[in-house]
Amino acid sequence: MTKRIFRSICLVSISVFLVFAVLFTAFLYNYFSDSQQAQLKIQTNLVAQGASHEGMDYFKGLDNSDYRITWIDKDGTVLFDSQSDLSGMENHMEREEVKEAIAYGSGESARYSKTLLERSLYTAQRLNDGTVIRLSTSQNSLLRLFLGIVWPVSFICVAAALLSLVLASRLSKKIVKPLNELNLDEPLNNEGYDELSPLLRRISIQQKQIRQQSAELLQKQREFDAVTTGMTEGIVLLNSKRIILSINSAAMRLLGTDDSCVGKFILSVNRSTELQELLLKAGGGKYAESVMELAGGKYQIDVSPIISNERVSGMVLLMLDVTEKEKIEQMRREFTANVSHELKTPLHTISGSAELMCNGMVKPEDTEKFAARIYRESQRMIGLVEDIIKLSHLDEGAENMEWEKVDLYALAEETVNRLLPSAASAGIKLALTGEKAEVNAVPQLLKEIVYNLCDNGIKYNRENGSVKVTVQNEGDHVLLRVSDTGVGIPPEHQERIFERFYRVDKSHSKEIGGTGLGLSIVKHAVKLLNGSLKLESQPGKGTCITVIFPRA
Ligand code: ADP
Repeated sequence: MTKRIFRSICLVSISVFLVFAVLFTAFLYNYFSDSQQAQLKIQTNLVAQGASHEGMDYFKGLDNSDYRITWIDKDGTVLFDSQSDLSGMENHMEREEVKEAIAYGSGESARYSKTLLERSLYTAQRLNDGTVIRLSTSQNSLLRLFLGIVWPVSFICVAAALLSLVLASRLSKKIVKPLNELNLDEPLNNEGYDELSPLLRRISIQQKQIRQQSAELLQKQREFDAVTTGMTEGIVLLNSKRIILSINSAAMRLLGTDDSCVGKFILSVNRSTELQELLLKAGGGKYAESVMELAGGKYQIDVSPIISNERVSGMVLLMLDVTEKEKIEQMRREFTANVSHELKTPLHTISGSAELMCNGMVKPEDTEKFAARIYRESQRMIGLVEDIIKLSHLDEGAENMEWEKVDLYALAEETVNRLLPSAASAGIKLALTGEKAEVNAVPQLLKEIVYNLCDNGIKYNRENGSVKVTVQNEGDHVLLRVSDTGVGIPPEHQERIFERFYRVDKSHSKEIGGTGLGLSIVKHAVKLLNGSLKLESQPGKGTCITVIFPRA
């Protein structure tokens, strides 16, 4: 601004000076020309009077070098010329001033020399006898005048320019100083130019609005942070160029970053192609979702474009933990496949045996054997279906089941008694020891637990082995322990035997009527009854499963 003011002042002062110089010179030139012409006219008049009285004698001895005097006859012939030889002079009849003088009594004119550097002024007057007296004088032309004053004018110009430079520099600084000293933090507390008052008032109003808006924005940001920080779902806000504007702590954890990622390109934090594809789709204004593996879990990533003025101005990334959902989904798929498989085998056996019998291909003495196979397989199927029903019931949370105070010892005694015959037929000693121990539970579920554990103890035992069931109180807990002297479970299987359909020795389990669901039912039931399980087993020595319930 200082420079512009400085330049303007310089330009204006130099232009004004130049225009003034030109106009003034022209005016002066005009003025002096007019007065010279008037002077010439007076002189002409005097010479005319002298010539009319004295004739040619008037010119004799006339000492005059300032003017050229010419006496012209009526026909234009030059009778006398004070500066030229008459013999070489042409007829003057056509000269403008002479023509005018003959016609009107007096005349005047001005003519430039060939170089345009000189101008001649002429005045002529007619005498009574018709002859004409003409006086002329030369004058510097305007051009010569200009050429003559060019150096002084240039000098003055330079001096004026220098002066205007100094003045302009000072002036511009003086003009700009109050502007530079404006305190824009407090626009209304400034003393400067009155002309700036509307501007300063406007700035003050706008500053107030900006302060208010930033306070509101800050408040909203805090609210947003407070809401998102506590969320288990990850949230990331991106602008249209996929730069992270905001990220909550869950998203930072999932993407393995910290808050230094704000302001960075999202793909510098996570380079997966799935994420790139999602962002590309959302960048095109479409909602996109996909399941990705993040921080060891499965997460559903939803990317929603933010559209304003028909343009994608940003995106919101939401990360939902679907690990459990995926696991359940996977388990359900596996369970369905297992159920179909488990049912298929006995069904095939039943169908095959029945077909043979139908076609009369079974010898009468074998009929009983085939019928027994059909019976065994259908029993297995019934057992399997019953177990599946129990499990699905437990999956639903054992709703509508009646909770009551139960003596676990009495309940175990009843179950043990039920199993005594099968234990005896397997040559296993089944015994119950312990004391009265009350728990708050669903009796049906407790029975399932005791039954399955004892049944397994009998099934996976050795000849002349034993199964010991113990019920006892221990502090705030009630312990149910079922230990056997059976085959035991190898360590690598111990984790998995509670899974549905998992069996250490599949064919042996099937042979002895196992469904692979017994321990799953136990695990599920214990969980529903708020208990916990402990497994200790040594292959070849035996297994001990302890269930711990809260005491009633
Ligand atoms: P199953 O109907 O096959 O018995 P379970 O779910 O009750 O199914 O048991 C799963 C598997 O765990 C069994 O197939 C067996 O291999 C093993 N198992 C369970 N209890 C015992 C035990 N007391 N001793 C040895 N192995 C056992």
